[in-house]
Amino acid sequence: MKHEFTVSTRAHAQLVDITAQVQAVVRGSGVRSGVAHVFVPHTTAGITINENADPSVVADLIAALERAVPEDAAYRHAEGNSPAHVKASLMGFCQTVLVEQGELILGTWQGIYLCEFDGPRTRRVIVKVQPDGQA
Ligand code: ZN
Repeated sequence: MKHEFTVSTRAHAQLVDITAQVQAVVRGSGVRSGVAHVFVPHTTAGITINENADPSVVADLIAALERAVPEDAAYRHAEGNSPAHVKASLMGFCQTVLVEQGELILGTWQGIYLCEFDGPRTRRVIVKVQPDGQA
């Protein structure tokens, strides 16, 4: 079964820590051991895992993506948001996290982030918690 929640972003580019929401879905699923697939059904938002201790890290990530994919470069896509599409693909649209004893296995400094690149908007996050022993 899949579970879904929404995230309202507040800026054009923003990384939102969704670890607690994903953990709540895992807890609600009753799965003790397995994997959690976290997916965003969008083309200008992505999902990544990175440091959630020092907020400067996500600020640096956004700044580095701005330098790598400048807003003022030449793009073909008439909607005008090609940089957001490119950055979302760089981050990817899915992360898989192992689950043991009903908890996400993440490093001490790791959090799961929804990456907004064309906000502010309301974004959907879909989580599937898959128990061991099922293909
Ligand atoms: Zn577009």
